[in-house]
Amino acid sequence: MKLYCNVEVNNRSAPNVVRKKSQRSVLAIGRQTVKSDDLFILWQTLQNKQGVRYKINCNVSQIFTKFINEGKATIRFLEPPHDLVIQSDIIQLKSFIHTLKLALSKKVNLSVLTISNLNPKSLSAIPKIKVVVNKSSDYPTLEGFPRTTEELYLVGSNRLSLDKQILKLQSLRILNLSSNRISSIPKELGYLQHLQELNLSQNLLNKGTNWVWLDQGPIKSNLKLLDISNNLLTTLPEQIGKLHALINLKASKNMLSYLPQSLGKLSKLKYLDLSKNNLEYMPGSTRNLRLALLDVSENEFRRTESHLMSNLDVPSLTESAARSFLKTRHPYDASLIPVTLVKFLDNAKYCMCGNPCFDCYIRKFMEFHLSIIANSVKSSENVTVPFDCYFCSISCLSSYGKIQY
Ligand SMILES: [Zn+2]
Repeated sequence: MKLYCNVEVNNRSAPNVVRKKSQRSVLAIGRQTVKSDDLFILWQTLQNKQGVRYKINCNVSQIFTKFINEGKATIRFLEPPHDLVIQSDIIQLKSFIHTLKLALSKKVNLSVLTISNLNPKSLSAIPKIKVVVNKSSDYPTLEGFPRTTEELYLVGSNRLSLDKQILKLQSLRILNLSSNRISSIPKELGYLQHLQELNLSQNLLNKGTNWVWLDQGPIKSNLKLLDISNNLLTTLPEQIGKLHALINLKASKNMLSYLPQSLGKLSKLKYLDLSKNNLEYMPGSTRNLRLALLDVSENEFRRTESHLMSNLDVPSLTESAARSFLKTRHPYDASLIPVTLVKFLDNAKYCMCGNPCFDCYIRKFMEFHLSIIANSVKSSENVTVPFDCYFCSISCLSSYGKIQY
């Protein structure tokens, strides 16, 4: 039983020692000799091919599997006092932990655990984790990508769509599909558990592209970098505001004339590149952002007359219910409520006070210096630009909109 994985070892007897970075590893369960019943886990890395042996029987004090469905588990040994923090393909990890538990309960069939498992010489090349395809003829159409692939670069391969076999790469962290001719992304891309960096620059994403893949749980909580620059986008999808972990968003060289209000929800965002678009104003919600770098050079920000559009009827029952629901900050998605309701809630505008509003609001363009949202601003000319602001009530307008009523 072998497991190709990433392992970080925490030594509990030296808690203050700087934690070692996770290493590409092979874990194997096996016996020392044919006659011996003692089972061991052998931990091998490229740096340490001899490996480290951990006795299993009477030595595994705990197995932590709370996050096994995210491909993570921890094995705690008594001697030496080490915790092996493992990250791997979910199916393989479950199977490994299952075998380990059988070994602990002595129910394992020893004949399946070959002795050679503990022979360090058997460490063949650790499977490829980085795959680079530079031309169409290198594309592994028949053999497919190794299941262990963590970084996949398919740049300039003239692809028209996203290959379905990519969707099975459960360890994928970095996917670069730059310079292809892709115009649609399958929903399943959003299911990849470990995808952190996605480069879709220089493709054919356009206003007809379906963005439902951004609605899926794993991508919402893991994606840190999204590059959709150099496409044919006239606006960004509303769903972009759901990428809670996003740190870096590159959307330059499109045809964006405005941005969704949901952009203001990206609380971890640090780098935002909107250069070379047709932006006329910024969404008011982005006043919540605290960016390290904002690039808005080569846009068309224009001084708007500070016009005021008022739509302050008595809120409908739907609006009142939706406002109350959003204030609870309960997560929601299409697995819990109907899609139409998800779309309705996604379209909420937010007042400066934080309250959501839907059809009842006051809208006003206000000019702000971009330094209120970013430490560093790259801009062709004026850094004071219009922000499209919403207010839930007249009292909010008078306190935040600096207008006396
Ligand atoms: Zn308000």
